[in-house]
Order: sequence, then C-alpha cells, then structure tokens
Amino acid sequence: LKMLQINNLHAEVDGKPILKGLSLSINAGEVHAIMGPNGAGKSTLSYVLAGRPGYEVTEGTATLDGQDLLALDPHERAAAGLFLGFQYPVEIPGVSNLQFLRTALNAQRKSRGEAELSGAEFLKVARAQAQALGLDMEMLKRPVNVGFSGGEKKRNEMVQMGIIDPKMAILDETDSGLDIDALRVIGDGINRIMRKDDKAVLLITHYQRLLDYVRPDFVHVLANGRIVRSGGPELALELEREGYGAIAA
Ligand code: ADP
Ligand code: MG
Ligand code: MG
Repeated sequence: LKMLQINNLHAEVDGKPILKGLSLSINAGEVHAIMGPNGAGKSTLSYVLAGRPGYEVTEGTATLDGQDLLALDPHERAAAGLFLGFQYPVEIPGVSNLQFLRTALNAQRKSRGEAELSGAEFLKVARAQAQALGLDMEMLKRPVNVGFSGGEKKRNEMVQMGIIDPKMAILDETDSGLDIDALRVIGDGINRIMRKDDKAVLLITHYQRLLDYVRPDFVHVLANGRIVRSGGPELALELEREGYGAIAA
C-alpha cells in the first residue's frame, strides 16, 4: 500500500524555485529519512505537503493513501491523516494544548465517520499519551507551546502525535537541540506511535544520530530541490563520515 507518493514536485517561494522535480514513494509500514545540507529544501518540502500559504506548487503531484493531497486545505490534510512536526513549532497564545488537540482529534474522527470523543474520553487518551512521554498533564493545560523549552516542545509534539494517531507523520528536525536522553525519549515515542504496518514516517534530519533510535528502511539525500541519492541506513553513516559535499555535488 502506497502511503505517500510524490511525483516530479516543483514548488517556489516568492517566485524562487526551491523544489525542482522531487519524487519519493513511501509504503505503509516504512520509515524513510531525508537528509541534506542546509538550504536544500527539506523544510520547504514539509511546508508544501502541509499546504502552508506562500509555498506554491508549480508542477507535479502528491497523494496520501491515494488521495490528492495538493487539492486539500491544510486542515483537510490533517483530517486525512497527515501529521506534520515542524522544525520551529508554532506558539498559539490563548488556546490550551488540550483544547487544540481535542479539536484536531475530533475533526479527524469526524472525517473518518467516527463519533467525537467526549471530554472525559479525550482526557483519558491525553493522559495516557502524556504519561508515555513523561510530560506533566499541567503542560497540556497551558497555551500551545508558549514558554516551552525546546525539549518540552518536542515532547509535546510527540504527545500530539500520539493523541492524533496519524497515518503518516513528517517530522522536520525533530532531533534539533535535544540532548541524548531527550533524543531517546523522542525516538521511543516515534517507534511506539508510528512503527506500524498501516502507518509511515518521513524523518527529515540533518544528523545521523536520531536514526540510531529510529532505524529507517530507506535514506534519501535531498540537494538543490531534488532527491539525488537513495539507499539503506548505511547511507546515513556514509554521509556522517564523508559529508554532503561528495555525495550531493
Ligand atoms: P532546509 O530545510 O533544507 O535547510 P529550506 O527548505 O528551509 O531548506 O530552504 C530552502 C531554500 O528556500 C533556501 O535557499 C531558503 O533560503 C529558501 N526559502 C525558504 N523559505 C523561504 C521564504 N519564506 N522566503 C524566501 N526564501 C525561502
Ligand atoms: Mg535548515
Ligand atoms: Mg529545514
């Protein structure tokens, strides 16, 4: 089963071409990693798939579980089962994490034809996920990401992912700024929530170290707006050893 299928994707920001013919195919049950130098277009890819305003697709296609992703509004993409973890998580003053997550979860359930969760049912789910990530429930009562440390934001993101229980997660530099202990917690979270036959993950990362915890089935190198090389987990180690210069040139 194809989970995410991207064909010849071209996208620009402010009239500047950033993605230049990117193709990628991810099956259910697989974890893929995209690595690449700064400015290669990694975050742009996640924004384009999220449907962020200002990121204009000029050519190509992207489907999620057979659905035309690019035809959907951002909230419809989330409801269809796509979860995006951003390099710089947004702060939403005035909206508590719990409100935000309950709304997001119920929108997704509704789109699947499932009944909405009551407040009590939702709290049970939220409590279980917070506990699994070692995040205090009090954090979930605070406004989304406001005043969170880098590590807390990432842990919070994993709690969000656990509650939403998406089909496909795209995680952009989820490892940035994490110490080794936090990295292990985040890696365990990704494995526990997403390492399933009917789900898939795209990990966007600069460094190999997250891949010690979440072992990818495939590794791709993104340079200058397209995938220039693909391989297995050993490719990440080769990149770490030799740098992007030799491979992405
Ligand atoms: P990466 O995540 O691989 O480091 P990005 O996707 O963030 O790369 O950036 C790719 C290129 O797009 C860079 O040259 C960057 O300067 C440019 N870019 C990204 N976002 C914008 C923007 N909002 N306006 C103008 N240029 C942008
Ligand atoms: Mg960057
Ligand atoms: Mg980036």
